[in-house]
Amino acid sequence: MSILKVAIPSPLSRTFDYLPPVGQPENALLPGSRLSVPFGRGRKVGILLDVESYSDLPLARLRRADAILDPEPALPPDLMLLARWASRYYHHPIGEVVSAFLPTALRRLHDTMTGVRPTTQARHYQITETEHVVSSELLKRAPLQRKLFNALKASKAGCSGEQLAELGSSWRTAVRALIDRGLVVERVASTVVPREINAQRHGRDSQPVLHDEQHTAAEAMKGALGSFSVTLLEGVTGSGKTEVYLRMVQACLEQAQQVLVLVPEIGLTPQLIERFRKRFTCRIELLHSGTTDRERLRVWQEAKAGQTHIVIGTRSAVFTPFKSLGSIIVDEEHDLSFKQQDGFRYHARDLAVIRGRERQCPVLLGSATPSLESLANVATGRYRHLSLSQRAGGAKPPQIGLLDVRRRAMHEGLSEGLLELIAEHLQQKGQILLFLNRRGFAPVLMCHDCGWSADCPRCDAHMTLHLKSHRLRCHHCGSERAVPASCPECALENMVLVGQGTERIEAAIADRFPSARIIRIDRDNTRRKGQLESLLAQATAGDADILIGTQMLAKGHHFPRVTLVGILDVDRGLFSADFRATEHIAQLVVQVSGRAGREGREGRVVIQTHQPDNPLLQVLVQQGYPAFARDALEERKEAALAPFNHLALLRAEAADSKQPRHYLQTVRAMIQQMAIEDVWALGPAVAPMERMAGRYRWQLLIQSPQRKHLHQLLDKLRPALETLPASRKVRWSLDVDPVTLL
Ligand code: ADP
Ligand code: ZN
Ligand code: ZN
Repeated sequence: MSILKVAIPSPLSRTFDYLPPVGQPENALLPGSRLSVPFGRGRKVGILLDVESYSDLPLARLRRADAILDPEPALPPDLMLLARWASRYYHHPIGEVVSAFLPTALRRLHDTMTGVRPTTQARHYQITETEHVVSSELLKRAPLQRKLFNALKASKAGCSGEQLAELGSSWRTAVRALIDRGLVVERVASTVVPREINAQRHGRDSQPVLHDEQHTAAEAMKGALGSFSVTLLEGVTGSGKTEVYLRMVQACLEQAQQVLVLVPEIGLTPQLIERFRKRFTCRIELLHSGTTDRERLRVWQEAKAGQTHIVIGTRSAVFTPFKSLGSIIVDEEHDLSFKQQDGFRYHARDLAVIRGRERQCPVLLGSATPSLESLANVATGRYRHLSLSQRAGGAKPPQIGLLDVRRRAMHEGLSEGLLELIAEHLQQKGQILLFLNRRGFAPVLMCHDCGWSADCPRCDAHMTLHLKSHRLRCHHCGSERAVPASCPECALENMVLVGQGTERIEAAIADRFPSARIIRIDRDNTRRKGQLESLLAQATAGDADILIGTQMLAKGHHFPRVTLVGILDVDRGLFSADFRATEHIAQLVVQVSGRAGREGREGRVVIQTHQPDNPLLQVLVQQGYPAFARDALEERKEAALAPFNHLALLRAEAADSKQPRHYLQTVRAMIQQMAIEDVWALGPAVAPMERMAGRYRWQLLIQSPQRKHLHQLLDKLRPALETLPASRKVRWSLDVDPVTLL
């Protein structure tokens, strides 16, 4: 009797049992296939995980699946493995995980999947290296498992699914059990992609001669092809990391293998894409938040069929199926946008590493400012380290300095010293970039008479005044309202604006330098498609004297004419409640600074601060990011924080102000009762912003120096939370490896 174990999107960590569809041959029931199944009073799309011979439910209660939806599994074996891994690691329901892996169009029933061509991926099984000593005692009561295990043990290269099938008809179940026991690994045997990749690799641009470090790095990465490894490419801004990527990609294409490139935000990397397009004429596809469902499905299917050679995409592109994946690149690997911040909270960089391991291909992580996690992995020898310490093409590193603004005259957040420098660089026809990580005109509107301020009715936050649209907006929940003409509290018309946003800096600069051409770039004026590209094009073409922007301007762009960078509000970040705040400021400062002085022009970076003695800023400015990172890692070690301590954050929120805290206290007591060695729960603590979008928020930090112990606890905790009646009174979520505690 075949019982289908089906993953269906639901908040419960379980699978659902079904009987096979009528008239479906046994061998068509392949894991990874989409099924239409009755669910409640409706129908849903589920993914077949396994075919078993038992069910916990009485057979009479099992319903029958309607049909298999695709001629072959929608999720190939390596993605099924990744999904299982991710579900276990992030303690997130498998149904929601596999659903996240599918393009939206395939999650719905009414879409028909057209034009999918069969892939020829075969599965391959190998014994895990560490488990050779396992006693057959363990497998005593599972004869087929023992048989498979011994067969695999006897063959160094492992066995194909076909070979194992000869040992017993329910080999799939048995091998799955061995995998679950950690005794066997499943891989996708690499297959050859059609020859068209080879035929079209010559692009239009000319390749620069690599400098020594680039050459070493490129050779190392070419040599890494064909097996799994993780390499951190740490290269100062402008050192030519992209060129190293391009060389590895070329070598990969020459071996008829596909490439996945993950980038933080597609809108922020038009230049990277442009360079790929110039270098390679093969099929390059993009996947990002603006990609339509239809388009996403097409790219997904073509990559799966091996017809697309390079996929460049944001976070969720890590789930793209490939016929023959040869390498994975994660550009700006430190970027926070790789972490999904709601629902299934995965980290795309970390999943990329797991995927590389399953596909046996190299993973290259690139950054000028690597995450402390990756640096720690280098220190323990898990990741290989390559560095590019010099700028390419003879460009000099920028000269970075702190500008002490204490007691100095400030004009709308701009110090006199900085304004003088701007005037100087304008005169020398240099381009100037001013960085401020806050959009809008002013973050606070206040009554000068009674102190009333325009606060968001739903959050513990002020509303930001946006001058162009003349609205007050909450940047946390999106609430909006009209700007009051007079104070709602005392009715006087004496309102003042406190603080600066990019709009205000733009106005102040326009006032001071009336003939300068100014371009502002932030989320507010780049919403429409193509706006960012056109502003960036103007900026690089030199149609602007002064660029003003938020972090959108800080990442990855190459502005050849920039000679002066002013960082305006670093102080704000120094007071953040988050333990990762300093790491993020350091990364941002280095990234922004990297925009200065490319292509031979001397660059200068000025950081305005009221804290010129701040040790973090001092080390960063005088010794650079690697020294900063060393100190920061040391601090994290002493404070027992990530990456030395493994963290999970349980968040709870509710409209009632007392519920979340009570709930987390209950959970905390449960955790203590579970008594898992080396695991602590800290809190409950109120979230740094207690009320957001009308809900009160609390959190419980669960930590352990041993990842294994943390996961032992979470393995028990997650199902317990699902059945805890109090869980229904709050909105809760579990975040493994949180990137922020805010
Ligand atoms: P990164 O990604 O490390 O910031 P890029 O790859 O964007 O650096 O390279 C910075 C600039 O240097 C680009 O304009 C690039 O074309 C140029 N460049 C890279 N490698 C070389 C080289 N070997 N010789 C000359 N110019 C180079
Ligand atoms: Zn007032
Ligand atoms: Zn709000």
